[in-house]
Amino acid sequence: MPYTVPKDFETYFKEWEDKIGAFIEYAPGASVPVPQGAAFGADAVSAAGALKGLPFAVKDNISVEAFHVSCGSKLLAGVRAPYTATAAAKLLAAGCVPVGKTNLDEFGMGSSTDNSAIKQTNNPWDVARVPGGSSGGSAAAVAAGLVPFALGSDTGGSIRQPAAFCGVVGLKPSYGAVSRYGLVAYASSLEGIGVLSDTVGRSRDVFALIRGADPLDQTSHNHPSGAPALYGGGRGGGVIGVLKTGEELEAETRKGFETAQKGLAELGYTLKEIEIPSLKYVTPAYYTIATAEASANLARFDGIRYGRRPDWAENPDDLIDKAREAGFGPEVKLRILLGTFVLRSGFQDRYYLRSQRIRAGIKRQFENLLGDSEYAGGPGGYDAVLMPVFPTRAFGRGEGALSPFAQKAADLYTCCANLAGLPALSFPASVEGGLPVGVQLVGRAFAEATLLDIAEAYEKAHPFARPAGYRAFWP
Ligand code: GLN
Repeated sequence: MPYTVPKDFETYFKEWEDKIGAFIEYAPGASVPVPQGAAFGADAVSAAGALKGLPFAVKDNISVEAFHVSCGSKLLAGVRAPYTATAAAKLLAAGCVPVGKTNLDEFGMGSSTDNSAIKQTNNPWDVARVPGGSSGGSAAAVAAGLVPFALGSDTGGSIRQPAAFCGVVGLKPSYGAVSRYGLVAYASSLEGIGVLSDTVGRSRDVFALIRGADPLDQTSHNHPSGAPALYGGGRGGGVIGVLKTGEELEAETRKGFETAQKGLAELGYTLKEIEIPSLKYVTPAYYTIATAEASANLARFDGIRYGRRPDWAENPDDLIDKAREAGFGPEVKLRILLGTFVLRSGFQDRYYLRSQRIRAGIKRQFENLLGDSEYAGGPGGYDAVLMPVFPTRAFGRGEGALSPFAQKAADLYTCCANLAGLPALSFPASVEGGLPVGVQLVGRAFAEATLLDIAEAYEKAHPFARPAGYRAFWP
């Protein structure tokens, strides 16, 4: 039986949404065609049963036919998606109901959602603070209980960081585990579609449905046969490497990180401190690669094929210049310039190729700890690595804000999983000073199940807190 939303939900939704502004478009009655051939894997039948009839939200850089796909940009405001992303199509096939599109930093570039050109989104725990980003609308909508889960995209932390800021679960799958078809590309070699949800079990079910090889995305894979099973594997115990952290953590975030360690130790996990020496190089490498790819991916937005055109232009070049000048926000322009710069002939060696070497190095360091795709356990023997998600809790605006530079520097914990292509799961560890603190687990490629098992055991012992005024509508 599809789930029927209780009558008073409408008032509840309106009250919250007026305060947090999570949605760019909300149309729960929209009729969305199920794409032909949309099917989820045979192992996801029970997940489909559990999620049938439930509403979900979609970050507005992921296409769902009949809805807009603005990417948080003036350039694409009002553009409608002509087709549906494979991940959303599989949810449709399971009987889930897309109700709207959520706000984001323009094209996924940012850590606060304040880089959206469309509107501002606020954190449900404290509306004076940001929800994190770039999937801030999806995180805020789930945290306020407006939907049980949402799709997001993660290029360098955009699912995990807003999930941590809003006190929800955020799963960034292994690179290629979920089809990117229908995701508007920012940095193709780093990103993927993933899940934000109210509970760990819900992320597991949604992931079970959306994963799998897709003929429309040649980089997508099925899980290898040796990968841990998504269901029924619930193992107690295991060895978790705990990243050694320094002064960069805010006191409350440190407390949350320590609370998580204590909780996991009490559950029987063995915790050992580890170091990842090249961690200090990952942020510059990430921003070099991400902006290089962005400068190429965003070249398609020329005002001719997509989006808003200037009223007049002297010639086609002038038209493109004017469309991009008026359409892109300052952060997007900065990144296109940076990306073009690092790719200039003569400079590639100095920036881009060096970054690719750092990328290979960080991948190797994780493999040394966790093992490779053979699942035999790495030389380090660790089942997962526990790390902070972000050095601070949700930050404020104005005085309490983090500068754009500080926001980028703070991506060090999240962007390494993208550089290495590994799965990472962010979950709420505790509430400190009235704001949630999230921590993340990073695992072997295609070992999402291991991370979900650990986080679910933690959740059972420490049920996640919700913001004041939250009501649980979703079974
Ligand atoms: N903060 C990162 C960035 O701005 C994360 C982006 C993302 O994952 N889409 O690039």
